[in-house]
Amino acid sequence: MRLVRWGEAGSERPGLLDADGVLRDLCAVLADIGPAVLAPESLARLAALDPAALPRVVGSPRLGAPLAGVGKLVGIGLNYRDHAQEAGMAQPAEPVIFMKAATAIAGPNDPLPIPPDSRKTDWEVELAVVIGSPARRVSRQAALAHVAGYCVANDVSERAYQLERGGTWDKGKSFDGFAPLGPWLVTRDEVADPQALPLWLELNGEPRQSGNTGSMIFGVAELVSYVSHVMTLLAGDVILTGTPAGVGMGCKPPRYLLPGDRLRLGVEGLGEQRYAVTGSD
Ligand code: ZN
Repeated sequence: MRLVRWGEAGSERPGLLDADGVLRDLCAVLADIGPAVLAPESLARLAALDPAALPRVVGSPRLGAPLAGVGKLVGIGLNYRDHAQEAGMAQPAEPVIFMKAATAIAGPNDPLPIPPDSRKTDWEVELAVVIGSPARRVSRQAALAHVAGYCVANDVSERAYQLERGGTWDKGKSFDGFAPLGPWLVTRDEVADPQALPLWLELNGEPRQSGNTGSMIFGVAELVSYVSHVMTLLAGDVILTGTPAGVGMGCKPPRYLLPGDRLRLGVEGLGEQRYAVTGSD
């Protein structure tokens, strides 16, 4: 299933895309797509619905992030060799973990605001993993059973706050709007292999990032297991699994986002995000 939330920011309604890509309203079935909806039994009930029996949503409403009630966003740093190299950092021996504020979450096509006084706002296309059931100290073999699905994410990063202003990385990762998620939450059954997904990003129509999740240093199952040994993962938590090379910091000279820039990014099978960069709000 491809689950979506549509409508104005703060009052999104639940929906799903049918096989033809038509947006169907789930309001009669659910209040919202929150953590409880992501449990395996609940997703199985939704999958049993006949999409054709659900009302069509008229027009092209704004899309919100495809899940509400996210408890925590866990970021994984330097998880692609080529990105670690462009960042001038060593390839990690164990996953690098940082936290990104859940208040940074935005819709997949919302304008991206540059924070006040920022000069180094950067992009990072990533595969996001959405947890569906509590995971505490799970093995790598058991890890994927705790995943509800996947979505596209941009782990937007202010490099000066991240790296030059006294630590930790979290500061540069957590500004409002710095975690566009979606357009869809694609359930795990529709992603045959999370380590075989091309992902890409364009800035003003120019290719900047082009990678494949098969190049991750630590794969999704290993990350879910590893993080679950450090903290309990709950339904609705999201892990951002790292970005391939091609970020602005890695350009010579570096190229950071400016008001008026346009970003387009996606992960194969999970849809794409498009938005303009704006000045601070
Ligand atoms: Zn990242």
